[in-house]
Amino acid sequence: MDVIHLLPDSVANQIAAGEVIQRPASCLKELVENSLDAGATRIQVIVRDAGRTLLQVIDDGKGMSETDARLAFERHATSKIREAQDLFTLRTMGFRGEALPSICAVSQVEMTTRRAEDETGTLLEIHGSDVIRQEPCVCPVGTNIKVSNLFFNVPVRRKFLKTDQTELRNLLTEFYHIVLVYPKVTFTFVHNDEILLELPSGTEKQRIEAVFGNPKRNVYTSAFVDINTVTEMVSIHGFVIKPENATRKAEQYFFVNGRYMRHPYFLKAVQTAYSGMLTADYQPSFFIYFDISPEAIDVNIHPTKTEIKFADEQSIFQILMASVREALGKFTLAPTIDFDNPSSIDIPLPTDRPVERPRVAVDPNYNPFHTRSNVVYPDRAPRGWESLYEGLKTEEEPGILRHEEVENCPLWQYDGRYILLPSAEGLVLINQHRAHTAVLYQQFLNQLVESRGAMQQLLFPEVLVLPQDEMVLLSQLIEDLRAIGFDIEQLSPDSYSVQGVPAQLVEQSPLPVLKQILAAVRERGADTRREWQEQIALGLAQSAAVPYGKTLTEPEMRDLVTRLVALPRYRRTPDGKTILSLLTDEEIGRRF
Ligand code: ADP
Ligand code: MG
Repeated sequence: MDVIHLLPDSVANQIAAGEVIQRPASCLKELVENSLDAGATRIQVIVRDAGRTLLQVIDDGKGMSETDARLAFERHATSKIREAQDLFTLRTMGFRGEALPSICAVSQVEMTTRRAEDETGTLLEIHGSDVIRQEPCVCPVGTNIKVSNLFFNVPVRRKFLKTDQTELRNLLTEFYHIVLVYPKVTFTFVHNDEILLELPSGTEKQRIEAVFGNPKRNVYTSAFVDINTVTEMVSIHGFVIKPENATRKAEQYFFVNGRYMRHPYFLKAVQTAYSGMLTADYQPSFFIYFDISPEAIDVNIHPTKTEIKFADEQSIFQILMASVREALGKFTLAPTIDFDNPSSIDIPLPTDRPVERPRVAVDPNYNPFHTRSNVVYPDRAPRGWESLYEGLKTEEEPGILRHEEVENCPLWQYDGRYILLPSAEGLVLINQHRAHTAVLYQQFLNQLVESRGAMQQLLFPEVLVLPQDEMVLLSQLIEDLRAIGFDIEQLSPDSYSVQGVPAQLVEQSPLPVLKQILAAVRERGADTRREWQEQIALGLAQSAAVPYGKTLTEPEMRDLVTRLVALPRYRRTPDGKTILSLLTDEEIGRRF
Protein backbone atom coordinates (compact mmCIF):
# COMPACT_ATOMS: atom_id res chain seq x y z
CA MET A 1 0.00 0.00 0.00
CA ASP A 2 1.30 3.46 -0.83
CA VAL A 3 1.98 5.51 2.24
CA ILE A 4 2.54 8.97 0.83
CA HIS A 5 -0.54 11.13 0.43
CA LEU A 6 -1.26 14.80 0.15
CA LEU A 7 -2.42 16.51 3.29
CA PRO A 8 -5.96 17.81 3.08
CA ASP A 9 -5.95 21.60 2.63
CA SER A 10 -7.48 22.15 6.03
CA VAL A 11 -4.54 20.40 7.69
CA ALA A 12 -1.93 22.14 5.52
CA ASN A 13 -3.58 25.45 6.35
CA GLN A 14 -3.52 24.76 10.03
CA ILE A 15 0.19 23.99 9.86
CA ALA A 16 0.81 27.18 7.90
CA ALA A 17 -1.37 29.08 10.34
CA GLY A 18 1.04 28.14 13.10
CA GLU A 19 3.69 30.05 11.20
CA VAL A 20 1.73 33.09 10.15
CA ILE A 21 -0.87 33.51 12.88
CA GLN A 22 0.74 33.07 16.27
CA ARG A 23 -1.46 35.36 18.26
CA PRO A 24 -4.28 37.86 17.81
CA ALA A 25 -1.72 40.57 17.00
CA SER A 26 -0.40 38.70 13.95
CA CYS A 27 -3.96 38.20 12.72
CA LEU A 28 -4.69 41.91 13.12
CA LYS A 29 -1.51 42.81 11.24
CA GLU A 30 -2.46 40.64 8.26
CA LEU A 31 -6.00 41.98 8.10
CA VAL A 32 -5.03 45.64 8.34
CA GLU A 33 -2.24 45.18 5.81
CA ASN A 34 -4.75 43.68 3.39
CA SER A 35 -7.00 46.70 3.85
CA LEU A 36 -4.09 49.03 3.12
CA ASP A 37 -3.10 47.01 0.07
CA ALA A 38 -6.71 47.40 -1.09
CA GLY A 39 -6.26 51.19 -0.98
CA ALA A 40 -8.45 51.87 2.04
CA THR A 41 -8.57 55.44 3.40
CA ARG A 42 -10.50 54.50 6.52
CA ILE A 43 -9.86 51.45 8.65
CA GLN A 44 -11.78 50.50 11.73
CA VAL A 45 -10.52 47.84 14.10
CA ILE A 46 -12.94 46.32 16.59
CA VAL A 47 -11.60 43.95 19.20
CA ARG A 48 -13.17 41.93 21.97
CA ASP A 49 -11.26 40.31 24.81
CA ALA A 50 -7.90 41.23 23.33
CA GLY A 51 -8.81 39.44 20.12
CA ARG A 52 -9.69 36.10 21.67
CA THR A 53 -13.38 36.32 20.88
CA LEU A 54 -13.44 38.94 18.14
CA LEU A 55 -11.11 40.71 15.75
CA GLN A 56 -12.94 42.75 13.15
CA VAL A 57 -11.46 44.98 10.46
CA ILE A 58 -13.68 47.20 8.35
CA ASP A 59 -12.23 49.08 5.39
CA ASP A 60 -13.39 51.25 2.51
CA GLY A 61 -10.91 49.72 0.07
CA LYS A 62 -11.58 48.35 -3.36
CA GLY A 63 -13.37 45.20 -2.18
CA MET A 64 -13.48 41.86 -3.98
CA SER A 65 -15.59 40.28 -6.70
CA GLU A 66 -17.65 37.23 -5.85
CA THR A 67 -15.01 34.90 -7.30
CA ASP A 68 -12.10 36.71 -5.70
CA ALA A 69 -13.82 36.62 -2.34
CA ARG A 70 -13.88 32.85 -2.50
CA LEU A 71 -10.36 32.58 -3.97
CA ALA A 72 -8.86 34.84 -1.35
CA PHE A 73 -9.17 32.01 1.16
CA GLU A 74 -7.31 29.51 -1.02
CA ARG A 75 -3.70 28.87 -0.20
CA HIS A 76 -1.20 30.97 -2.15
CA ALA A 77 -4.00 32.92 -3.75
CA THR A 78 -2.84 36.47 -4.15
CA SER A 79 -3.49 39.37 -6.48
CA LYS A 80 -0.15 40.89 -5.65
CA ILE A 81 2.59 38.85 -7.34
CA ARG A 82 2.49 36.63 -10.38
CA GLU A 83 5.97 35.20 -10.46
CA ALA A 84 8.98 34.85 -8.22
CA GLN A 85 10.67 37.81 -9.92
CA ASP A 86 7.96 40.14 -8.58
CA LEU A 87 9.16 39.43 -5.07
CA PHE A 88 12.11 41.72 -5.61
CA THR A 89 10.17 44.78 -6.65
CA LEU A 90 7.52 44.50 -4.02
CA ARG A 91 5.83 47.58 -2.64
CA THR A 92 2.68 46.07 -1.12
CA MET A 93 2.56 44.75 2.43
CA GLY A 94 1.30 41.21 1.85
CA PHE A 95 2.36 39.00 -1.00
CA ARG A 96 2.37 35.40 0.01
CA GLY A 97 -1.32 34.70 -0.21
CA GLU A 98 -1.08 32.86 3.08
CA ALA A 99 -2.83 35.10 5.54
CA LEU A 100 -6.52 34.56 4.86
CA PRO A 101 -6.33 30.76 4.47
CA SER A 102 -4.27 30.60 7.67
CA ILE A 103 -6.72 32.78 9.58
CA CYS A 104 -9.80 30.89 8.45
CA ALA A 105 -8.16 27.57 9.33
CA VAL A 106 -8.04 28.49 13.01
CA SER A 107 -11.15 30.64 13.49
CA GLN A 108 -14.66 31.40 12.38
CA VAL A 109 -14.62 34.03 9.66
CA GLU A 110 -17.47 36.07 8.34
CA MET A 111 -16.73 38.47 5.53
CA THR A 112 -18.80 40.86 3.49
CA THR A 113 -17.18 42.65 0.57
CA ARG A 114 -18.23 44.72 -2.41
CA ARG A 115 -16.48 46.51 -5.26
CA ALA A 116 -17.67 49.94 -6.38
CA GLU A 117 -18.68 48.53 -9.77
CA ASP A 118 -20.88 45.76 -8.30
CA GLU A 119 -24.41 46.33 -7.17
CA THR A 120 -24.47 43.56 -4.64
CA GLY A 121 -21.70 42.36 -2.42
CA THR A 122 -20.71 38.90 -1.28
CA LEU A 123 -21.12 37.34 2.12
CA LEU A 124 -18.87 34.45 3.01
CA GLU A 125 -18.78 32.40 6.17
CA ILE A 126 -15.98 29.95 6.85
CA HIS A 127 -15.46 27.87 9.97
CA GLY A 128 -12.06 26.21 10.26
CA SER A 129 -11.53 26.18 6.47
CA ASP A 130 -15.07 24.87 5.76
CA VAL A 131 -17.20 27.21 3.72
CA ILE A 132 -20.52 27.39 5.57
CA ARG A 133 -22.23 30.05 3.56
CA GLN A 134 -21.63 32.13 0.43
CA GLU A 135 -24.36 34.42 -0.84
CA PRO A 136 -24.98 37.85 -2.31
CA CYS A 137 -25.58 40.57 0.23
CA VAL A 138 -26.19 44.28 0.61
CA CYS A 139 -23.12 46.01 2.00
CA PRO A 140 -21.04 49.14 1.54
CA VAL A 141 -18.06 49.27 -0.84
CA GLY A 142 -15.03 47.77 0.86
CA THR A 143 -14.42 44.76 3.01
CA ASN A 144 -15.60 43.84 6.49
CA ILE A 145 -13.89 40.79 8.01
CA LYS A 146 -14.94 39.39 11.36
CA VAL A 147 -12.64 36.80 12.88
CA SER A 148 -14.32 35.10 15.84
CA ASN A 149 -13.00 32.66 18.43
CA LEU A 150 -9.42 32.57 17.24
CA PHE A 151 -7.77 29.17 17.77
CA PHE A 152 -11.15 27.62 18.68
CA ASN A 153 -9.89 24.38 17.13
CA VAL A 154 -6.26 24.63 18.33
CA PRO A 155 -6.41 24.34 22.13
CA VAL A 156 -2.62 24.40 22.45
CA ARG A 157 -2.40 27.79 20.79
CA ARG A 158 -5.22 29.08 22.90
CA LYS A 159 -3.43 27.97 26.00
CA PHE A 160 -0.27 29.78 25.00
CA LEU A 161 -1.98 33.13 24.78
CA LYS A 162 -0.95 35.50 27.54
CA THR A 163 -3.27 37.57 29.72
CA ASP A 164 -5.68 39.91 27.99
CA GLN A 165 -3.52 42.83 29.06
CA THR A 166 -0.47 41.41 27.34
CA GLU A 167 -2.32 40.39 24.20
CA LEU A 168 -3.95 43.81 24.00
CA ARG A 169 -0.55 45.39 24.35
CA ASN A 170 0.72 43.17 21.52
CA LEU A 171 -2.25 44.21 19.39
CA LEU A 172 -1.56 47.87 19.99
CA THR A 173 2.16 47.50 19.32
CA GLU A 174 1.41 45.85 15.99
CA PHE A 175 -1.17 48.54 15.27
CA TYR A 176 1.34 51.34 16.00
CA HIS A 177 3.84 49.83 13.58
CA ILE A 178 1.26 50.17 10.84
CA VAL A 179 -0.48 53.44 11.64
CA LEU A 180 2.83 55.31 11.94
CA VAL A 181 3.58 54.69 8.27
CA TYR A 182 0.09 55.44 6.99
CA PRO A 183 -0.66 58.87 8.46
CA LYS A 184 -3.02 59.70 5.60
CA VAL A 185 -5.31 56.80 6.47
CA THR A 186 -7.90 57.33 9.19
CA PHE A 187 -7.84 54.61 11.85
CA THR A 188 -9.91 53.76 14.89
CA PHE A 189 -9.24 51.06 17.41
CA VAL A 190 -12.05 49.90 19.66
CA HIS A 191 -11.57 47.40 22.46
CA ASN A 192 -14.54 46.04 24.40
CA ASP A 193 -16.68 48.95 23.20
CA GLU A 194 -14.15 51.52 24.29
CA ILE A 195 -12.39 53.69 21.71
CA LEU A 196 -8.70 53.38 22.53
CA LEU A 197 -7.36 55.24 19.52
CA GLU A 198 -8.89 57.64 17.06
CA LEU A 199 -6.39 58.70 14.46
CA PRO A 200 -7.47 61.25 11.89
CA SER A 201 -5.73 61.62 8.55
CA GLY A 202 -2.70 63.91 8.85
CA THR A 203 1.05 64.26 8.53
CA GLU A 204 3.58 61.83 9.97
CA LYS A 205 4.28 64.21 12.81
CA GLN A 206 0.61 64.62 13.62
CA ARG A 207 0.21 60.86 13.61
CA ILE A 208 3.10 60.41 16.02
CA GLU A 209 1.53 62.97 18.32
CA ALA A 210 -1.88 61.36 18.02
CA VAL A 211 -0.45 58.01 19.04
CA PHE A 212 2.16 58.91 21.64
CA GLY A 213 1.81 62.52 22.57
CA ASN A 214 -0.91 64.75 23.63
CA PRO A 215 -2.15 66.38 20.46
CA LYS A 216 -3.92 69.09 22.40
CA ARG A 217 -0.69 70.33 23.86
CA ASN A 218 1.71 69.47 21.06
CA VAL A 219 4.11 67.87 23.47
CA TYR A 220 5.85 65.95 20.79
CA THR A 221 6.30 68.70 18.24
CA SER A 222 8.57 70.56 20.56
CA ALA A 223 10.45 67.52 21.82
CA PHE A 224 11.74 66.38 18.42
CA VAL A 225 13.92 67.71 15.64
CA ASP A 226 13.53 66.70 12.01
CA ILE A 227 16.12 64.67 10.17
CA ASN A 228 16.29 64.63 6.42
CA THR A 229 18.96 63.17 4.17
CA VAL A 230 18.73 62.17 0.55
CA THR A 231 21.55 60.18 -1.02
CA GLU A 232 21.69 58.03 -4.10
CA MET A 233 21.59 54.92 -1.99
CA VAL A 234 18.89 55.79 0.50
CA SER A 235 16.59 58.57 1.63
CA ILE A 236 16.17 59.02 5.36
CA HIS A 237 13.71 61.27 7.06
CA GLY A 238 11.97 61.41 10.40
CA PHE A 239 12.16 62.79 13.87
CA VAL A 240 14.68 62.38 16.64
CA ILE A 241 14.25 63.55 20.19
CA LYS A 242 16.17 66.51 21.53
CA PRO A 243 18.69 65.17 24.04
CA GLU A 244 17.13 67.09 26.92
CA ASN A 245 13.78 65.42 26.31
CA ALA A 246 15.09 61.87 26.38
CA THR A 247 13.72 59.50 29.01
CA ARG A 248 14.48 56.03 30.25
CA LYS A 249 11.75 54.42 28.25
CA ALA A 250 12.12 55.46 24.66
CA GLU A 251 9.91 55.03 21.62
CA GLN A 252 12.27 53.77 18.92
CA TYR A 253 10.91 53.10 15.46
CA PHE A 254 12.58 52.34 12.16
CA PHE A 255 10.52 51.95 9.02
CA VAL A 256 11.68 50.95 5.59
CA ASN A 257 9.54 51.46 2.52
CA GLY A 258 6.44 51.73 4.66
CA ARG A 259 7.17 48.73 6.83
CA TYR A 260 8.23 48.62 10.46
CA MET A 261 11.59 46.99 11.07
CA ARG A 262 13.86 46.16 13.95
CA HIS A 263 17.47 46.88 13.21
CA PRO A 264 19.92 46.63 16.11
CA TYR A 265 22.84 47.74 13.95
CA PHE A 266 21.12 50.94 12.82
CA LEU A 267 19.97 51.51 16.40
CA LYS A 268 23.65 51.57 17.28
CA ALA A 269 24.17 54.27 14.63
CA VAL A 270 21.54 56.46 16.26
CA GLN A 271 22.91 55.83 19.74
CA THR A 272 26.39 56.71 18.53
CA ALA A 273 25.12 60.00 17.17
CA TYR A 274 23.81 60.83 20.64
CA SER A 275 26.93 59.76 22.48
CA GLY A 276 27.90 62.14 25.23
CA MET A 277 24.54 63.88 25.13
CA LEU A 278 22.40 61.59 27.26
CA THR A 279 22.43 60.63 30.90
CA ALA A 280 23.64 57.07 31.41
CA ASP A 281 20.37 55.13 31.35
CA TYR A 282 18.47 57.44 29.03
CA GLN A 283 17.58 56.39 25.52
CA PRO A 284 16.80 58.48 22.46
CA SER A 285 13.29 58.25 21.07
CA PHE A 286 13.08 58.38 17.31
CA PHE A 287 10.87 57.73 14.33
CA ILE A 288 13.08 57.17 11.30
CA TYR A 289 11.76 56.34 7.86
CA PHE A 290 14.05 54.86 5.19
CA ASP A 291 13.22 54.89 1.53
CA ILE A 292 15.32 52.59 -0.54
CA SER A 293 15.05 50.75 -3.80
CA PRO A 294 13.34 47.39 -3.08
CA GLU A 295 16.24 45.62 -4.82
CA ALA A 296 18.58 46.78 -2.06
CA ILE A 297 16.72 45.04 0.75
CA ASP A 298 15.67 41.49 1.43
CA VAL A 299 11.94 41.49 2.02
CA ASN A 300 11.47 37.81 1.47
CA ILE A 301 11.74 37.01 5.12
CA HIS A 302 9.58 35.22 7.58
CA PRO A 303 6.17 36.89 7.87
CA THR A 304 6.35 37.38 11.61
CA LYS A 305 9.95 38.56 11.71
CA THR A 306 10.64 42.25 11.64
CA GLU A 307 14.36 42.14 10.87
CA ILE A 308 15.26 43.25 7.38
CA LYS A 309 18.61 42.80 5.60
CA PHE A 310 20.07 45.66 3.62
CA ALA A 311 22.60 45.26 0.82
CA ASP A 312 25.09 47.81 2.14
CA GLU A 313 24.49 48.19 5.84
CA GLN A 314 27.83 49.84 6.66
CA SER A 315 27.28 52.74 4.30
CA ILE A 316 23.73 53.23 5.55
CA PHE A 317 25.04 53.16 9.12
CA GLN A 318 27.33 56.09 8.28
CA ILE A 319 24.65 58.02 6.42
CA LEU A 320 22.18 57.51 9.26
CA MET A 321 24.64 58.53 11.94
CA ALA A 322 25.65 61.66 10.02
CA SER A 323 22.01 62.53 9.45
CA VAL A 324 21.12 62.31 13.14
CA ARG A 325 24.30 64.16 14.12
CA GLU A 326 23.46 66.95 11.74
CA ALA A 327 19.98 67.28 13.20
CA LEU A 328 21.41 67.45 16.69
CA GLY A 329 24.15 69.76 15.42
CA LYS A 330 23.32 72.54 17.77
CA PHE A 331 24.17 70.27 20.66
CA THR A 332 27.19 68.52 19.23
CA LEU A 333 28.96 71.72 18.23
CA ALA A 334 28.79 73.07 21.72
CA PRO A 335 31.56 71.86 24.00
CA THR A 336 29.96 69.46 26.40
CA ILE A 337 30.95 69.41 30.00
CA ASP A 338 29.99 66.14 31.55
CA PHE A 339 29.01 66.86 35.10
CA ASP A 340 28.71 63.20 35.91
CA ASN A 341 32.18 62.35 34.79
CA PRO A 342 34.53 64.96 36.17
CA SER A 343 37.55 63.07 34.89
CA SER A 344 36.50 63.97 31.37
CA ILE A 345 37.33 67.59 32.03
CA ASP A 346 40.24 69.02 33.86
CA ILE A 347 38.23 70.82 36.48
CA PRO A 348 38.73 68.98 39.74
CA LEU A 349 35.68 68.94 41.95
CA PRO A 350 35.95 71.17 44.97
CA THR A 351 36.00 68.12 47.24
CA ASP A 352 39.33 67.16 45.72
CA ARG A 353 40.94 70.36 46.88
CA PRO A 354 42.99 70.56 50.04
CA VAL A 355 40.68 71.71 52.75
CA GLU A 356 41.04 75.41 53.22
CA ARG A 357 38.06 76.11 55.39
CA PRO A 358 38.94 79.58 56.61
CA ARG A 359 37.81 81.13 53.38
CA VAL A 360 34.48 79.38 53.54
CA ALA A 361 32.27 81.97 55.05
CA VAL A 362 29.13 80.69 56.65
CA ASP A 363 26.83 83.36 57.88
CA PRO A 364 25.64 82.16 61.29
CA ASN A 365 22.61 84.42 61.05
CA TYR A 366 21.64 83.06 57.72
CA ASN A 367 18.50 81.01 58.00
CA PRO A 368 17.74 79.31 54.72
CA PHE A 369 14.10 78.95 55.64
CA HIS A 370 13.54 82.63 55.89
CA THR A 371 14.57 83.40 52.37
CA ARG A 372 12.49 83.87 49.28
CA SER A 373 12.50 80.15 48.97
CA ASN A 374 9.20 78.45 49.63
CA VAL A 375 10.91 75.43 51.06
CA VAL A 376 9.70 74.65 54.56
CA TYR A 377 9.96 71.53 56.64
CA PRO A 378 7.16 71.78 59.13
CA ASP A 379 7.19 68.26 60.42
CA ARG A 380 10.77 67.36 59.94
CA ALA A 381 12.36 70.12 61.92
CA PRO A 382 13.54 68.91 65.27
CA ARG A 383 14.28 71.31 68.07
CA GLY A 384 17.41 73.31 67.56
CA TRP A 385 17.47 72.27 63.95
CA GLU A 386 18.93 75.55 62.83
CA SER A 387 22.28 74.91 64.49
CA LEU A 388 22.18 71.28 63.46
CA TYR A 389 21.69 72.32 59.91
CA GLU A 390 24.57 74.76 59.89
CA GLY A 391 26.80 72.02 61.22
CA LEU A 392 25.78 69.76 58.41
CA LYS A 393 26.36 72.43 55.89
CA THR A 394 29.96 73.09 56.90
CA GLU A 395 30.75 69.42 57.32
CA GLU A 396 29.43 67.98 54.12
CA GLU A 397 28.83 70.87 51.88
CA PRO A 398 31.58 73.41 51.91
CA GLY A 399 29.72 76.63 51.34
CA ILE A 400 30.91 77.54 47.92
CA LEU A 401 28.03 79.89 47.65
CA ARG A 402 26.85 82.31 50.21
CA HIS A 403 23.36 83.54 50.10
CA GLU A 404 24.34 87.24 49.92
CA GLU A 405 26.68 86.48 47.06
CA VAL A 406 23.80 85.19 45.06
CA GLU A 407 21.64 88.18 45.80
CA ASN A 408 23.76 90.71 43.99
CA CYS A 409 26.26 88.92 41.80
CA PRO A 410 26.18 88.90 38.01
CA LEU A 411 24.74 85.74 36.48
CA TRP A 412 25.18 84.30 33.04
CA GLN A 413 23.62 81.43 31.23
CA TYR A 414 25.89 79.29 29.11
CA ASP A 415 24.85 76.92 26.33
CA GLY A 416 21.26 76.79 27.54
CA ARG A 417 22.46 74.40 30.23
CA TYR A 418 24.59 76.08 32.83
CA ILE A 419 24.28 79.08 35.06
CA LEU A 420 27.63 80.73 35.74
CA LEU A 421 28.30 83.07 38.62
CA PRO A 422 31.32 84.35 40.50
CA SER A 423 31.84 83.45 44.13
CA ALA A 424 34.49 84.25 46.69
CA GLU A 425 36.46 81.25 45.55
CA GLY A 426 36.06 81.21 41.83
CA LEU A 427 33.59 80.64 39.07
CA VAL A 428 30.60 78.49 39.97
CA LEU A 429 28.94 76.39 37.28
CA ILE A 430 25.43 75.19 37.97
CA ASN A 431 23.54 72.66 35.89
CA GLN A 432 20.16 74.37 35.47
CA HIS A 433 17.99 71.29 34.98
CA ARG A 434 19.48 69.46 37.94
CA ALA A 435 19.34 72.53 40.14
CA HIS A 436 15.66 72.92 39.41
CA THR A 437 15.11 69.19 39.92
CA ALA A 438 16.60 69.40 43.40
CA VAL A 439 14.49 72.43 44.29
CA LEU A 440 11.26 70.91 43.00
CA TYR A 441 12.04 67.58 44.65
CA GLN A 442 11.93 69.18 48.09
CA GLN A 443 8.71 70.97 47.23
CA PHE A 444 7.01 67.86 45.96
CA LEU A 445 8.21 65.78 48.86
CA ASN A 446 6.87 68.28 51.37
CA GLN A 447 3.57 68.47 49.59
CA LEU A 448 3.36 64.71 49.53
CA VAL A 449 4.06 64.32 53.20
CA GLU A 450 1.42 66.92 53.96
CA SER A 451 -1.02 65.82 51.26
CA ARG A 452 -1.38 69.31 49.97
CA GLY A 453 -0.55 69.02 46.29
CA ALA A 454 -2.39 71.49 44.09
CA MET A 455 -4.42 69.85 41.36
CA GLN A 456 -5.15 71.22 37.92
CA GLN A 457 -8.07 69.66 36.06
CA LEU A 458 -7.25 68.48 32.54
CA LEU A 459 -9.45 69.67 29.70
CA PHE A 460 -9.16 66.29 28.06
CA PRO A 461 -8.77 63.30 30.36
CA GLU A 462 -6.12 60.86 29.23
CA VAL A 463 -6.08 57.08 29.43
CA LEU A 464 -3.10 55.29 30.87
CA VAL A 465 -2.98 51.68 29.68
CA LEU A 466 -0.57 49.54 31.66
CA PRO A 467 0.65 45.96 31.73
CA GLN A 468 -0.56 43.95 34.69
CA ASP A 469 2.57 44.30 36.81
CA GLU A 470 2.50 48.07 36.51
CA MET A 471 -1.22 48.13 37.33
CA VAL A 472 -0.37 46.48 40.63
CA LEU A 473 2.44 48.93 41.26
CA LEU A 474 0.23 51.88 40.46
CA SER A 475 -2.46 50.72 42.86
CA GLN A 476 0.17 50.81 45.63
CA LEU A 477 1.16 54.35 44.77
CA ILE A 478 -2.29 55.69 44.11
CA GLU A 479 -2.87 57.29 47.48
CA ASP A 480 0.34 59.27 47.20
CA LEU A 481 -0.26 60.18 43.58
CA ARG A 482 -3.62 61.61 44.62
CA ALA A 483 -2.01 63.41 47.54
CA ILE A 484 0.34 65.20 45.19
CA GLY A 485 -2.42 66.30 42.83
CA PHE A 486 -3.16 63.55 40.33
CA ASP A 487 -6.87 63.02 39.79
CA ILE A 488 -6.73 59.43 38.70
CA GLU A 489 -9.36 56.67 38.57
CA GLN A 490 -9.19 53.07 37.54
CA LEU A 491 -11.09 52.71 34.27
CA SER A 492 -10.74 49.04 33.44
CA PRO A 493 -8.61 46.14 34.64
CA ASP A 494 -5.71 47.55 32.64
CA SER A 495 -6.19 51.26 32.49
CA TYR A 496 -6.58 54.42 34.49
CA SER A 497 -8.06 57.68 33.41
CA VAL A 498 -6.11 60.76 34.37
CA GLN A 499 -8.36 63.77 34.85
CA GLY A 500 -6.12 66.11 36.72
CA VAL A 501 -2.41 66.65 37.32
CA PRO A 502 -0.24 68.44 39.87
CA ALA A 503 -0.44 72.14 39.03
CA GLN A 504 3.31 72.37 38.34
CA LEU A 505 2.89 69.79 35.62
CA VAL A 506 0.28 71.33 33.33
CA GLU A 507 2.87 71.86 30.62
CA GLN A 508 3.64 68.15 30.46
CA SER A 509 1.76 65.25 29.07
CA PRO A 510 0.84 63.31 32.23
CA LEU A 511 1.22 59.81 30.82
CA PRO A 512 5.00 59.83 30.27
CA VAL A 513 5.41 61.36 33.74
CA LEU A 514 3.39 58.58 35.36
CA LYS A 515 5.21 55.94 33.37
CA GLN A 516 8.54 57.40 34.40
CA ILE A 517 7.53 57.28 38.06
CA LEU A 518 6.49 53.65 37.73
CA ALA A 519 9.72 52.79 35.97
CA ALA A 520 11.75 54.57 38.65
CA VAL A 521 9.95 52.82 41.49
CA ARG A 522 10.43 49.47 39.82
CA GLU A 523 14.07 49.98 38.87
CA ARG A 524 15.28 51.54 42.09
CA GLY A 525 13.19 49.22 44.20
CA ALA A 526 11.22 51.30 46.65
CA ASP A 527 9.76 49.25 49.47
CA THR A 528 8.59 51.62 52.12
CA ARG A 529 6.01 54.31 51.74
CA ARG A 530 8.67 56.92 52.33
CA GLU A 531 10.76 55.52 49.46
CA TRP A 532 7.76 55.58 47.13
CA GLN A 533 7.15 59.15 48.05
CA GLU A 534 10.76 60.00 47.30
CA GLN A 535 10.57 58.32 43.90
CA ILE A 536 7.30 60.07 43.08
CA ALA A 537 8.76 63.41 44.11
CA LEU A 538 11.86 62.77 42.05
CA GLY A 539 9.93 61.66 38.96
CA LEU A 540 7.73 64.73 39.14
CA ALA A 541 10.67 67.02 39.75
CA GLN A 542 12.58 65.64 36.78
CA SER A 543 9.55 66.08 34.56
CA ALA A 544 8.70 69.57 35.67
CA ALA A 545 12.25 70.97 35.91
CA VAL A 546 13.40 73.47 33.28
CA PRO A 547 14.81 71.56 30.35
CA TYR A 548 18.20 72.10 28.79
CA GLY A 549 18.08 74.59 26.00
CA LYS A 550 15.61 76.83 27.81
CA THR A 551 16.81 80.41 27.98
CA LEU A 552 16.50 81.81 31.48
CA THR A 553 16.10 85.45 32.36
CA GLU A 554 18.31 86.95 35.00
CA PRO A 555 15.57 87.04 37.68
CA GLU A 556 14.73 83.43 36.88
CA MET A 557 18.36 82.39 37.30
CA ARG A 558 18.69 84.32 40.52
CA ASP A 559 15.52 82.85 41.93
CA LEU A 560 16.60 79.35 41.03
CA VAL A 561 20.07 79.72 42.54
CA THR A 562 18.66 81.34 45.69
CA ARG A 563 16.25 78.49 46.18
CA LEU A 564 18.98 75.99 45.42
CA VAL A 565 21.44 77.23 48.01
CA ALA A 566 18.63 77.25 50.56
CA LEU A 567 18.37 73.48 50.30
CA PRO A 568 20.01 71.35 52.99
CA ARG A 569 22.06 69.66 50.29
CA TYR A 570 22.49 71.50 47.09
CA ARG A 571 25.57 69.98 45.52
CA ARG A 572 23.89 66.84 44.23
CA THR A 573 20.45 65.81 43.06
CA PRO A 574 18.54 63.29 45.20
CA ASP A 575 19.73 60.60 42.81
CA GLY A 576 23.32 61.65 43.23
CA LYS A 577 24.08 63.71 40.16
CA THR A 578 26.37 66.71 40.40
CA ILE A 579 24.51 70.01 40.34
CA LEU A 580 27.27 72.44 41.00
CA SER A 581 30.96 72.68 40.22
CA LEU A 582 33.62 75.23 41.03
CA LEU A 583 36.41 76.53 38.83
CA THR A 584 38.70 78.08 41.43
CA ASP A 585 40.54 81.37 40.96
CA GLU A 586 43.72 79.39 41.21
CA GLU A 587 42.71 77.08 38.39
CA ILE A 588 41.70 79.98 36.25
CA GLY A 589 45.01 81.69 37.00
CA ARG A 590 47.00 78.62 36.02
CA ARG A 591 45.57 78.79 32.54
CA PHE A 592 47.35 82.05 31.77
P1 ADP B 1 -1.77 38.43 0.30
O1 ADP B 1 -2.13 39.66 1.05
O2 ADP B 1 -0.43 37.95 0.65
O3 ADP B 1 -2.02 38.55 -1.16
P2 ADP B 1 -3.93 37.28 1.75
O4 ADP B 1 -4.26 35.89 2.10
O5 ADP B 1 -3.70 38.22 2.87
O6 ADP B 1 -2.69 37.25 0.80
O7 ADP B 1 -5.07 37.85 0.84
C1 ADP B 1 -5.38 37.17 -0.38
C2 ADP B 1 -5.99 38.11 -1.40
O8 ADP B 1 -7.27 38.51 -0.96
C3 ADP B 1 -5.22 39.39 -1.58
O9 ADP B 1 -4.19 39.26 -2.54
C4 ADP B 1 -6.32 40.34 -2.07
O10 ADP B 1 -6.49 40.24 -3.47
C5 ADP B 1 -7.57 39.81 -1.39
N1 ADP B 1 -7.90 40.61 -0.19
C6 ADP B 1 -7.65 40.28 1.10
N2 ADP B 1 -8.12 41.22 1.95
C7 ADP B 1 -8.68 42.18 1.19
C8 ADP B 1 -9.34 43.42 1.48
N3 ADP B 1 -9.48 43.88 2.75
N4 ADP B 1 -9.82 44.15 0.43
C9 ADP B 1 -9.65 43.71 -0.84
N5 ADP B 1 -9.04 42.56 -1.17
C10 ADP B 1 -8.56 41.78 -0.19
MG1 MG C 1 -2.24 39.80 3.07
